[in-house]
Amino acid sequence: MFFDTHCHLTDPKYNDKDLELILKKIQEDNIFCISMATDLNEIEKLEILSSNKNVYFGFGIHPYEAHKYYPISKYQDLLKNSFLKYKQNQKLIFIGEVGIDLYNQIETKNQQTEVFEYFVYLASEYNFPLSIHTRSAENEVINILKKYELKKHIKAVFHCFVSDSKDILNEILNNNWYIGVGGVITFKNKKNDYLREILLNIDLTNVLLETDSPYLTPEPYRGKTNYPFHVKIIYEYISNLRKIDLEDLKQTIFNNLKKITDNF
Ligand SMILES: [Zn+2]
Repeated sequence: MFFDTHCHLTDPKYNDKDLELILKKIQEDNIFCISMATDLNEIEKLEILSSNKNVYFGFGIHPYEAHKYYPISKYQDLLKNSFLKYKQNQKLIFIGEVGIDLYNQIETKNQQTEVFEYFVYLASEYNFPLSIHTRSAENEVINILKKYELKKHIKAVFHCFVSDSKDILNEILNNNWYIGVGGVITFKNKKNDYLREILLNIDLTNVLLETDSPYLTPEPYRGKTNYPFHVKIIYEYISNLRKIDLEDLKQTIFNNLKKITDNF
């Protein structure tokens, strides 16, 4: 089994035909995907898609949408009730995609921070793993996680991890959080060598693999639309990089996912 632990089946880039192809291919190739929500209005469609055996889903508000849920005091009942409703579905296994992005949207920093912190509270309260998007805000995210970590271990994945800071990587690993690795690792640019270096050296017990499709398409398809079934390319890439057997890597990733989500 392969696991694409972060993708977006409800992204407008996919039409019905694309979805049909994706669902067929992932079933044929024994790929399971976790499709993350970026806004509340996607979750109903995600729940419907999750009736497919190979599809799981996440509940979250992407940092780019967070300003719509501000001030959080006005929206927390809506978010909590909605989360509890979808939580009854066993295929809801993550809170995500949530986070803080100060690279693209520094002007909504306060809104993003409040909304993200509310999701960390939900994750802590209901023992759910977080799929976190962060760019130029790793320290802000880590500080919020650590605040809750004092009471109870927070299960968190830093999706599409691209930070070149050793301190940030160490914080993540020392707190037993995870990094999500996708298409960027295959990009040939010299500037991504540091990411390959990380993946060569860290213990794979804190790694999950993902596509973030329809974005971040791996080589050799870079520039085209990405699909969850491209996660096989990421598995093969890491298996070659680490010189480990593909079957062993598949087992490691599966074990990691079982540690972080209860429903696997
Ligand atoms: Zn994403």
